[in-house]
Amino acid sequence: MISIYLKEKLKTLFQCKGKITVLTGAGVSAESGIPTFRGPEGYWTIGSTNYQPQDISTNRMLQSNPKEVWKWFLFRRGVCRAAQPNEGHKALVEMEKLLGDRFTLITQNIDGLHLRAGNSMKRTFQIHGNLDYMRCTKPCSTKLHYISDEFPFIQRHQEPTKKDWDMIVCPDCGAPARPHALLWDEYYDEEWYRWESSMNTANHTELLIIVGTEGATNLPNQIANLVSLNKKTIIDINIVKNRFSDMAQNTGRGFFIQQPSAKALPEILKIWKEVRE
Ligand SMILES: [Zn+2]
Repeated sequence: MISIYLKEKLKTLFQCKGKITVLTGAGVSAESGIPTFRGPEGYWTIGSTNYQPQDISTNRMLQSNPKEVWKWFLFRRGVCRAAQPNEGHKALVEMEKLLGDRFTLITQNIDGLHLRAGNSMKRTFQIHGNLDYMRCTKPCSTKLHYISDEFPFIQRHQEPTKKDWDMIVCPDCGAPARPHALLWDEYYDEEWYRWESSMNTANHTELLIIVGTEGATNLPNQIANLVSLNKKTIIDINIVKNRFSDMAQNTGRGFFIQQPSAKALPEILKIWKEVRE
């Protein structure tokens, strides 16, 4: 439950007419049952060697052993596709409908759950990519290609058939395709990961709502720092205290809501709707 005190504060805050940005991370997906893939569930074996995501999910591995990289991503895709958007995802879809152009969603999650819930591609910056998509390894176009539902959802270490592999090519030029995901040894860019758009949005936002992320990656930190530097408001929603909750509270203009996002976001949405009525 959000306290009456906080509710009144939020009502005042939601009367602003400026831009509102929501930044989401793994915590939102975890509430749909998606593991972080960094712990014991993340290991991957090639031959007799165990690899972690930071070894397998790299451009270096993509160059030397693309099929292993694909198998890892296709396995993860299967886990993510079996999960369903939760009440937090659904509340963010409603927020986009309410706010229109004032709303931007920046997500680190590559499970595609925000789009599946109904947020628009236009207002959702998927800064780490989306497992539902692949793209050409050659500079043939900037198009994303949806990975066909005909492609099987492979189990851990299952070997796709030759027919399956034949689907993992660029439909436009026939060159090998790659997962649409930021690999560990790659950099954010605008073309694929909306780096500049994200920073530009952060620079013009009145209110930043950070949900389910503890700032382990670079871009979310830069976004939060910029909003803080601009003396705008940060609300952090997380089940644990973290550097963003400290940041939100230390500025004196923000709040920490220590709750699961599937509970907090629908409550926030309700308050928002009350303000508009
Ligand atoms: Zn191509």
